[in-house]
Amino acid sequence: MTSIATLGSHCSLQVLKGAKDEGLKTILVCEKKREKLYKRFPFIDELIIVDTFKEVLDKKCQSILEENNAVLIPHGTLVAQMSSEEIESIKTPVFGNKWILRWESDREMKEKLMREAKLPMPKPVTEPKEIEKLVIVKRQGAAGGKGYFMAASEEDYNAKRNQLISQGIISKDETLYIQEYAAGVLAYLTFFYSPLKEELEFFGVDQRHESDIEGLGRIPAEQQMKSNKVPSFNVIGNSPLVLRESLLDEVYKMGENFVEASKRVVSPGMNGPFCIEGVYDENAKFTSFEFSARIVAGSNIYMDGSPYYSLLFNETMSMGKRIAREVKTASESNQIDKITT
Ligand code: ATP
Repeated sequence: MTSIATLGSHCSLQVLKGAKDEGLKTILVCEKKREKLYKRFPFIDELIIVDTFKEVLDKKCQSILEENNAVLIPHGTLVAQMSSEEIESIKTPVFGNKWILRWESDREMKEKLMREAKLPMPKPVTEPKEIEKLVIVKRQGAAGGKGYFMAASEEDYNAKRNQLISQGIISKDETLYIQEYAAGVLAYLTFFYSPLKEELEFFGVDQRHESDIEGLGRIPAEQQMKSNKVPSFNVIGNSPLVLRESLLDEVYKMGENFVEASKRVVSPGMNGPFCIEGVYDENAKFTSFEFSARIVAGSNIYMDGSPYYSLLFNETMSMGKRIAREVKTASESNQIDKITT
């Protein structure tokens, strides 16, 4: 029988609960320090205790996963803590497309895929002296918004960069990425593409809450002006959102374009869950600054099913359960190769 394995963090509880609900064996690769936490959840059948998640690459861990016929579900922790080479070297079948995770981590590749998918993106700014409008300055890789800052001019950019360097938040030789700031309503759009059904499903929308940019919005302008703290975009949590129904058609189109572009650019394409992240402006025009090519933590708010999935399924369907359903169907019909890499 196939089992489901994942790393103990990010959205592992949802993933394993969904797998258990589908009748699959569940395995958690768990750091020693979190053993007590994860033992609280009876739907986790087996814990593989490790000192660091990189041990998932070791023979010992891989052979336990192999004995259990495990499919590994990748999530944000895997992407944040392992290099693309390490992820690509994992022997256990990885759900979705492990090759596309490199396209998520590398800024140039990311932009290329987003352009290929015709996603409207904020304009990149190549040099600080070219800053004309409000920009957001980002660090390389998935830093989760930590150390990001906004700047309105070259002078402003230099002052904030120097402040963050002196605070040890960013390093002197770090290459920063500058992009025009897109103002509007944040919306993180999550989809699931089933390679078995060759069908795209829209799962739901969430919003991220980021500190301390949101904290700044809660104080009066007078105090904001006096503050010389550089606010960051560190993700703290997520909350649900539903869209105006008139926006849905465009949402599906964006998801479909992304799936089509991924098929062309990085075989076998964007299989499984993914998220297109951006903002809606005052004309309800979407600008996307990011995608995640795997399950996102925002799906944790819909452990009991999302509003859009309740339209597609006559049962409670979380993203974790949807993944397990695909694995189960593939396993029963001998198509595991179709849903893993
Ligand atoms: P993660 O890997 O956790 O998704 P990341 O390091 O790749 O994060 P982004 O998602 O690109 O970073 O940006 C972090 C946050 O910064 C976003 O959630 C959003 O609030 C804000 N942000 C990023 N780019 C823009 C932009 N161009 N305009 C407005 N806000 C932006």
